[in-house]
Amino acid sequence: MKLGAQMSAAGGVWKAFGRAEQAECETTMVYTKSNRQWKAKPLDEKSIAKFKTEAEKYRGKIDPLVVHAAYLINIASPKPELWEKSRDALRDELDRAEQLGLELVVLHPGSHMGEGEEAGLARIAKALREVTADTAGYQTRVCLELMAGQGTNLGAKFEHLAYLLNEVDAPDRMGVCFDTCHVFAAGYDFRSAENYAAMIAELDNTIGLEQIKVFHFNDSKHELGSLRDRHEHIGEGFIGAEGFAHFVNDPRWKDHPAVLETPKKIKGDDRDEFAIDKMNLDRLRALIQ
Ligand SMILES: [Zn+2]
Repeated sequence: MKLGAQMSAAGGVWKAFGRAEQAECETTMVYTKSNRQWKAKPLDEKSIAKFKTEAEKYRGKIDPLVVHAAYLINIASPKPELWEKSRDALRDELDRAEQLGLELVVLHPGSHMGEGEEAGLARIAKALREVTADTAGYQTRVCLELMAGQGTNLGAKFEHLAYLLNEVDAPDRMGVCFDTCHVFAAGYDFRSAENYAAMIAELDNTIGLEQIKVFHFNDSKHELGSLRDRHEHIGEGFIGAEGFAHFVNDPRWKDHPAVLETPKKIKGDDRDEFAIDKMNLDRLRALIQ
């Protein structure tokens, strides 16, 4: 696998490459705009050119660079205004990724806010159909993230994403992001070799393994099925290092990017964020047989 960590894009998306290099990443992930804002200044030609020069420099070394869409987006929202705003913001994320030549855009499917799973999933499908139709011909893919199932979050069941992929029916424009913490918190166990094999078989029977485009590697602060989304350093949570060994040694994921979203700081430890990411990456690399 290509192992890396999420990096800040402060000062320009292109800066993420140098940061990723400091942590010895082979892939990385960024937000291309502030997570707390609906609108961002459009990318100007100068910053696009700068980004492309950096991407070329790191081609095959820190590659791919994955985009994470803003948390604010909720295309499952029952409020028409918020739904439209979310759909347009997703469209904007795809425009930006396309301008930068990036394929993978990770998106949290959304929260139904009490209106129920079925209605929420239908609204997600509608937004995705519109956005993929609007951006026909783009190389970008919306990678729906598997979620922990906190609150009214949709996407904690493999069936949710299977339904969405089927409804949107744009196989070249869609994919799935497998987050180890979320899937574990949602109740799927993969810590033993037997459970890993069973989980993968279930994943294949519902979503299809070919849909998985990217991984988020996080250990979990909470127990199996807790439905709580709290990330922990690799090997220090309820998943444990062995759980990750199955993934990093599975030839089916040989070329897949896997990105850490683990804490960047340790209390009482004065190492910088790059050293902390590298610590987690070293733990993953030590598992490769
Ligand atoms: Zn994640």
